[in-house]
Amino acid sequence: MAENDTTVYYDDDGTLSDLEDRTIAIIGYGNQGRAQALNLRDSGVESIIVGNREDASWSRAQEDGFPVYRIPKASSKADIVFMLIPDEVAPDVYENAVEPDLDEGNVVIFASGYNITYGFIDPDDGLDVVLVAPRMIGTMVRELYIEDRGAPALLGVHQNPSGDAKEVGLAIAKGIGATRSGVVESSFEVETKTDLMTEQALFPIFVSAMMSKYEIELEAGVPPEVIMLEQSLSREMAYIFQKAATQGIIEQLSLHSQTSQYGQLRGIDAFDRQPIQEYMRECMHRIEKGTFATEWTREQQAGYPTLDHLRKKYEKTEMVEAEQQTLDAFGLREEGTKDED
Ligand code: NDP
Repeated sequence: MAENDTTVYYDDDGTLSDLEDRTIAIIGYGNQGRAQALNLRDSGVESIIVGNREDASWSRAQEDGFPVYRIPKASSKADIVFMLIPDEVAPDVYENAVEPDLDEGNVVIFASGYNITYGFIDPDDGLDVVLVAPRMIGTMVRELYIEDRGAPALLGVHQNPSGDAKEVGLAIAKGIGATRSGVVESSFEVETKTDLMTEQALFPIFVSAMMSKYEIELEAGVPPEVIMLEQSLSREMAYIFQKAATQGIIEQLSLHSQTSQYGQLRGIDAFDRQPIQEYMRECMHRIEKGTFATEWTREQQAGYPTLDHLRKKYEKTEMVEAEQQTLDAFGLREEGTKDED
């Protein structure tokens, strides 16, 4: 069994003075970029600029009151650069528009471990390279901050020529509100593993279980709309996971009937998890060996043929079609979530 001891940092462990007299460039004003920039400013961090393409995000950053520059210009002005653009485009943008304008002693901050873990970005030795990875989506990073709370985050140091990389990372974690909740000392590799395992090991099993349940209930004469309403569209499942996130997966069972509690716990207890564990070990192996990363890079270079094929394939499965029809038939669709055609 691996030792998984953790060190967790809180507000008193970081000081914003580590960011004093340093210009911070937020590269990418999307989900994380906007949330982190606003939180840092509200925490009293003064010199924040944004680097982006000239489009809607550029205008939004200007409306929010930040000086906005093209990415190379923002990088050249910065002491600390946040790479908050999608992971697929980050290597190209970093190599061509960020690093050429950085100086020795600058700090590069990532919110995802992926590109460093797999060597798709290989920063110059003279740069500090730090991971500050919130465990929540950008809107939550902002919403929790406004409520005087914070999104937990992982902190990792990849390069530390200055000797201050961890202190700067903690100061940033404090500025975005993460130390209000707790910041786990970690690494780019660990962040990558746990992130990809959720996507590749957990969600496929979850969706496959939903599809299997649909098929078995159909065989047993349950109408498609009834299955879909019961399964996810009633929002009962969303509510359960929401409660699980704030009470715990077993604690939230008290919100269910005794019949439900007995059925769930009896089923969990009897379930053979070995095939699932084997599948998950295989996923972990692909992640650790970089097999997935290599495959995904090839897929991007080829113009996403498999992704397009799989999207179309699963849009046409019986359960997904029944789901779409049920959304319309019962007026459950959120406005603006489907094309008019
Ligand atoms: P978004 O997709 O929300 O950010 C997009 C930003 O990147 C926009 O400003 C966009 O500009 C810019 N951008 C997109 N493509 C390019 C390009 N080709 N060249 C230059 N700029 C580009 O990203 P996220 O905030 O979701 O993710 C940022 C980082 O945070 C990633 O590393 C991600 O893994 C990590 N992360 C994300 C979380 C989340 O909340 N989604 C949670 C935790 C970590 P434009 O307006 O032009 O599109």
